[in-house]
Amino acid sequence: MGGLVARLVSEQTRRESTWERDPRMRIEANFSTMETPAGDLSAMDKIGKLSALTCPACKGSLWEVDDAHVLRFRCHTGHAFSAESLDGAQRDRIEDAVYTAIAALEEDVQFSGVLEKRFGDRDQTHLATQYRMKAEKARQSAEALRALLVRRD
Ligand SMILES: [Zn+2]
Repeated sequence: MGGLVARLVSEQTRRESTWERDPRMRIEANFSTMETPAGDLSAMDKIGKLSALTCPACKGSLWEVDDAHVLRFRCHTGHAFSAESLDGAQRDRIEDAVYTAIAALEEDVQFSGVLEKRFGDRDQTHLATQYRMKAEKARQSAEALRALLVRRD
């Protein structure tokens, strides 16, 4: 038992010293534990390069951390992503945007229908026709986006 405890303590000490010797890991740990002052982004440039991507969680900038074997991303508030998890988050973000667009188009169909009826009731057929055509275009666009979602599955 005493040997096991000594070995575990020794392994833990070795792990800590490896952690402490790697300045990049220390910087990342300091961001995660909020030990780095808010707004101090210069430390992030030491662990990776600023990418053109934004964090799906907080919309902040993402730094690309290219370790020897693993491509990772990290924002300055502490969110961290593997390439795979960032890909999944991007897919979710695109899907949410498409659903938002579909909802807006369906609302446009409804509202254009209201205006078509209103102008039709007042014998303003030219305007009624314009809104009927607008509603049809919005309906077709919503259908195209729904088809896009099905294709992406
Ligand atoms: Zn973030």
